[in-house]
Amino acid sequence: TRTRVVIIGAGPAGLTVANLLRTAGVDCVLLEAESREFIEQRPRAGFMEEWVVRALARRGLADRLLERAGRQGEFEFRFDGARHTMRTGELSGRRHFVYPQPLLVTDLVASYVDRAGGEVRFGVREVALHDIDSDRPAVSYTDPVTGARHRIECDFIAGCDGARGVSRAAVPDGRAVLTRNDHGVAWLALLAEAPPSADGVIFGIHERGFGAHMARSAQVTRYYLQVEPGEDAGNWSHERVWDELRVRLAADGSPPLAEGPLIEKVVLDMHNYVVEPMVFGRLHLAGDAAHLVAPIAAKGMNLAINDALLLGDALIAHYQGDDSGLAGYSEACLRRVWQYLEFSQWLFDVLHGASSGDRFRAGTARARLRRLLGSESAAKAFARLYMGEEADL
Ligand code: FAD
Repeated sequence: TRTRVVIIGAGPAGLTVANLLRTAGVDCVLLEAESREFIEQRPRAGFMEEWVVRALARRGLADRLLERAGRQGEFEFRFDGARHTMRTGELSGRRHFVYPQPLLVTDLVASYVDRAGGEVRFGVREVALHDIDSDRPAVSYTDPVTGARHRIECDFIAGCDGARGVSRAAVPDGRAVLTRNDHGVAWLALLAEAPPSADGVIFGIHERGFGAHMARSAQVTRYYLQVEPGEDAGNWSHERVWDELRVRLAADGSPPLAEGPLIEKVVLDMHNYVVEPMVFGRLHLAGDAAHLVAPIAAKGMNLAINDALLLGDALIAHYQGDDSGLAGYSEACLRRVWQYLEFSQWLFDVLHGASSGDRFRAGTARARLRRLLGSESAAKAFARLYMGEEADL
């Protein structure tokens, strides 16, 4: 078989590229290792920046999102038993949209497959990339039902298969630089079947470790607890989790946390990486396949969609005779990636200084917090980055 673009991975990045291409009449095939049911339920991100939502809406991809997403414009820091509200919405003129990733993925699959008749092959095995340096690259895979091996020839490959995919590994040695950074801590990511205990986000800064609360829906709330890297989630019983959350999120005058069964409990090592450039011959990486940003400032999905919008538009322009988008793709993506990495690193230091056991880091983190809470111009600069740099995509 032959198509113009093979997209590997049906996460937010791959599905966005697929929707853009399909709408513009550029033939493509989407290959996904998991089943449709699985990707429509995989819990992960929750916050979308306003400019991302606007860009999706402009392409007809945000109808349900705009109907159903919550809007948030403030969060709380808690430390030393006190509550401090940051009015990030007022300070930046922007909002966060709260829309769990599985809902976004469900919407994007529906619009690509059910409405536009786009092609996805779910459950594919042993995906391999071929001849990415030629103008006739190809992708092969094993069909999960028949066990037969298939090969699709194409003009371009969009590598959107996330942090654990095969696309990044297909880049020949010496052709890209992989930059890694490890924060040296982990977060226990929790989903509780419980209503939120506050309107939005609470960042609890505590000597015992960082803790967080993030309202998701009326029934489900996300919590995070800082733990040792390599920690086993099984060591965290229901009682231990809730005892620790109560301590780390404690503040005078705050209502008790609404407890509920923990339906997700995974340990995430807080690390980052970036692949530069994001293009090798006919392979273009997008999203977590190219860069991982630890979920400290909730930036990963926003970056993935940013890449996908740029890549989709650039591929469409290519078929209309304009290659400038493809030529500038990597640089345009990486500019925002590094902005967000820097911000994420900055916020990491603020949130983890108190528990670092290092008086210097604790002291400087405390100084940053005081500056944020005491200076309107510092708070405004922070809010603009926290809510996301505007872009007109
Ligand atoms: P993915 O969503 O990982 O999609 C990749 C797809 O490729 C998957 O469907 C996978 O099954 C498929 N695949 C993998 N290998 C292959 C293969 N060999 N062949 C075919 N298919 C393959 N980001 C935010 O913006 N805000 C948040 O609040 C936030 N919170 C997070 C919380 C947690 C607990 C985690 C883990 C992440 C969070 N993120 C957040 C990050 C966000 O989830 C990711 O950045 C986002 O999913 C990246 O999208 P993607 O499409 O690049 O990759």
